[in-house]
Amino acid sequence: MNRESISGSSYTGRFAPSPSGHLHFGSLVAALGSYLDAKAAGGRWLLRMEDLDTPRNVPGAAEDILSTLEGYGFQWDGEVTWQSRRQSLYREALERLKGAGLVFPCGCTRREIADSRTGHVPGSEVRYPGTCRHGLAPGRQPRSWRFQVPEGEVFFPDRVQGRIVQDVAAAVGDFVLQRADGLFAYQLAVVVDDAEQGVNRVVRGADLLDSTPRQIALQRALGLPAPDYAHLPVAANATGEKLSKQTKARALAGLRPQAVLATALEFLGQEPPAGLEEASLDEFWTWAVPHWDISRVPGRHSLSAPEGFG
Ligand code: GLU
Repeated sequence: MNRESISGSSYTGRFAPSPSGHLHFGSLVAALGSYLDAKAAGGRWLLRMEDLDTPRNVPGAAEDILSTLEGYGFQWDGEVTWQSRRQSLYREALERLKGAGLVFPCGCTRREIADSRTGHVPGSEVRYPGTCRHGLAPGRQPRSWRFQVPEGEVFFPDRVQGRIVQDVAAAVGDFVLQRADGLFAYQLAVVVDDAEQGVNRVVRGADLLDSTPRQIALQRALGLPAPDYAHLPVAANATGEKLSKQTKARALAGLRPQAVLATALEFLGQEPPAGLEEASLDEFWTWAVPHWDISRVPGRHSLSAPEGFG
């Protein structure tokens, strides 16, 4: 028995989908990886709906995600949490940062920041140029609240991708915690929730790798512990784009769960025995949980989605 399974009961993982579309092969991979990682260690697996970005929420998507997960045999611990009902926690965290002088009001519009992008690398995020860091210019109205990113590099060991380093100040600069429309940003909410829910193992898609140093910087500012991170390769379509609603990724409804799950296991480098896709759903999980081996997951940011799922 390895160390993880002896002390495993203290592990808490989670899956945190945004209800902006249906579950596709890529999101199923993230659900499966985080589930197996928590369950193989005897830990808990929480489900959190990241529905804060209300303009992007699609009516019915959350219910659709929950019923698909259920149909695939995922069992979450406790009630589903909804970020939209937890705003007071984010407000409190922002107030603490205000009290500590670690955030500042910003009067810039998106357009002004986009226009400031000298030397911008296409495809990367636009770095905030620091315009309001030392106070609003006369006559400017505060719009959003930004985190004053500390100087220096943030390092963390990713369990799949290896050692990750990012100079957050240089890469993205002072980032938004509360938007001009009053909505709390994902970066703040995820940090508050992971800590408040006792999540100590985050397993998610590598599209969030770039966000992780920001989250670690915020955890430090709020005095919160950092979970262990594992970023799984994301499934990409034939043109190399991450599967999403925009790429019209195939919905999972109507497919045989065991077949999709067995394909997702292979995508994650696991070696399911021949015929597992024909087994019952119970048999699938009975095999998959104890055989989870994160060291087999390819340390790549993206991999082609299997035939038929792009
Ligand atoms: N809600 C985020 C997404 O669907 C995931 C956040 C996370 O796992 O930290 O991309």
